[in-house]
This record gives sequence, C-alpha cells and structure tokens, in this order.
Amino acid sequence: MKFHNLSSQYRSLQKEINQAVTQVLQSGHFSEGNEISRFESQFANTHLSPYCIALNSGTSALHTILKSLDITSGHQVIVPTNTCFPTVEAIYMTGAQPLLVDCEPDYYNIDPGQIESVINENTKAIVAVHLYGQPAQMDKIRNIADKHNLLLIEDCSQAHLASFNGTMVGNFGIASAFSFYPTKNLGAFGEGGAVVTNDASLNNKIRAFKNHGSSTKNVHEFIGHNYRMDSIQAAILSVKLKHLQKWTERRRKNAQHYLELLADCHEIVLPATHPKSFHVYHQFVIRVQKRDQLQQFLQRQGIETAIHYPIPCHLQPALSHLGYRKGSFPIAEMLVNQILSLPVAEHLTHPDIGYICDRIKKFYHK
Ligand SMILES: *Cc1c(COP(=O)(O)O)cnc(C)c1O
Repeated sequence: MKFHNLSSQYRSLQKEINQAVTQVLQSGHFSEGNEISRFESQFANTHLSPYCIALNSGTSALHTILKSLDITSGHQVIVPTNTCFPTVEAIYMTGAQPLLVDCEPDYYNIDPGQIESVINENTKAIVAVHLYGQPAQMDKIRNIADKHNLLLIEDCSQAHLASFNGTMVGNFGIASAFSFYPTKNLGAFGEGGAVVTNDASLNNKIRAFKNHGSSTKNVHEFIGHNYRMDSIQAAILSVKLKHLQKWTERRRKNAQHYLELLADCHEIVLPATHPKSFHVYHQFVIRVQKRDQLQQFLQRQGIETAIHYPIPCHLQPALSHLGYRKGSFPIAEMLVNQILSLPVAEHLTHPDIGYICDRIKKFYHK
C-alpha cells in the first residue's frame, strides 16, 4: 500500500499529458509564453482570485511575496512552529526574523490565542499555514492582523481547494503561496509553485521579481530573482488541474472512511475538522501512543506511512540561535511523538482503507 503513487496517476492521464508535453516540445517555447499564462488564469479561476503568478516552487512563492511586501532585516514575521521548514526558511531569506507560535491541540494549526502575546513594534506580518489540508482559523487570525495592522499571508502549499467559512483559501490575506511539489494535492512532474493575490500592484511587482526585477525587456527596476515556472510544468499542471476536484473528493471520501472504521478504536486520536473548515486532507494524521511500533508493524504488512514532521521548526539545528528550547512549544512537541500520517491520496480505494484499518486494529489486538 503505497503512500504516494504518482506513476499510477501518470498512467491514468498518459495520453493527455504526453500530448501536452509534446506540444511544448514542438513549440520550442520552454519559458514564459502561452502555457504559463493559460495555467495562471486557470489556477486563478479555480481559487476565485483575480491574479495568479506561476513560479518554480512554493518556497519561491513565499519568498517572493515577503520580498514584494518589503519585509526585510529588522522585521519580524509570525509563523507556526508546526509547519514544513520552507515556510520559516522563506522568512529567513528576506533577512527578517521568524516569530514562532505553538499550534492548537485539536486542529494542529497556529493557535490564534497565542499570536497576540508575541507581537511587538517590529512585527510586520503573519504567515498562516493551512497544515495537512485544513485551513487555519482565518476569521480570528484576520481580526488579529487587522487590529495590529499586520500583513496577512497564507501558505496554501497543502491546501489546494480548501475553504474556511465558505471562502476559498488564498483569499484571506494580501497574497498566498501554493506549492506544486510532486506529492502535493496538485503536483507538477518536477518543481512548481504559484502566488495568488487580488492586489493588482502586488501582482505586477511579483511578475517582475520572478523575472530579475524586470517588467520591460532589458530594463531591471530592482534586484529580483529567476523564479519562473517551466512551460512543460505549466502544460502538465493544466492537464492535472482538470482532475483536482475529483481527486480532492476521493481524498475526502478516503478520510471519511477512516473516520468511520476507526471510530471505535480508542487508542487513536482521529483528526478533528473545525466546523467552518472544508478540509482537503493533504495528510490524514492520527495520534497514537507507541507510534513507532505501530509504524513498523504497518510497514511489515506492506503499508507505508509517514511523519509530518518529526522535528518542529523551533528545534531545528538551523534555528538554534533563536534560543528556543525543548519545552518552548509543548503542543507541537507532544505532536511529534504521536503523529502518524496514513495513506489517503486518490489512488487508495475503500478496500485499501479497510485493509489498513483492519491491520491497525490487529496491532491493538481488536
Ligand atoms: C511543500 C511546502 C512548502 C514548500 O514548497 P516547495 O514547492 O517544496 O518549495 C512550503 N510550505 C508548506 C506548508 C509546504 O507543505
């Protein structure tokens, strides 16, 4: 039982994808051009946002947003410690300092109740992460950002098509980052990312930033980067985007099946969904005691699982100079010893989920 099965996904779309890639190869246009602008408008429409800028990774997307909002050294940016490391890394890349915050015990996203206590006069922005595919509590976070005049940015790398209180992620802050890393809910055949925004001038600035600070050929208004998406990736993503809704429904059905089958297994804390959240289950994360033994047991039964993430950001060696210690963020630290991500992607069928649950119950002698 594979955790990801990207080759079976490819086989299911082989004809369409080969055709799209061949078209790019024959066109001779491998950077910028029609494939890019087509994907940008399709992705913007999908997320009900006026602007999308295609980039070469989610990390680039976060870095580009922060740079284009003039976040720089001396500034501080609030971010959950329970996130994929690149969220924090992108803040570092601007020279700003990340201000880490613990997560809530129920939904594992940044705890809105702990944000205000870290705000000071150098704090400029909040990066809210929709971890595992569940939106952070954007109503409360939006209120805090407004009250303290902070920029609000969303890291939607794990949350394509998720929504909160009926609003699609990517629309709560000034700009949002998406990743199309191969294993994300929408994945390229290589690296990819995007920014979504409803701010016209930010859109222009980000377009220039990803292209060496240039919006007019050979004129460089500022120092930027090369963060452009490859045309081949855009062509592949356009094909895959048509299937995203169907795949998301499959993830949600798989998750629902786990929730039903494991409901009577009291050794397991099942993932909770906030009543206002539309969860897209990038990961289906359970919490258990004896986690490592369960993981090894499942591995022996041919079931791949994963841990997202085994080390919270505040305990990463790269951030040791910030002075956080073991005990700084008790909820995130409790999670790292208990969490286990079960396979939930669209290649899994109901019988697969049934088999996995059966094995889990067997481990607990049920
Ligand atoms: C994957 C991911 C990133 C980084 O995206 P890349 O495309 O790998 O650079 C950032 N934040 C989160 C929450 C992610 O899951």
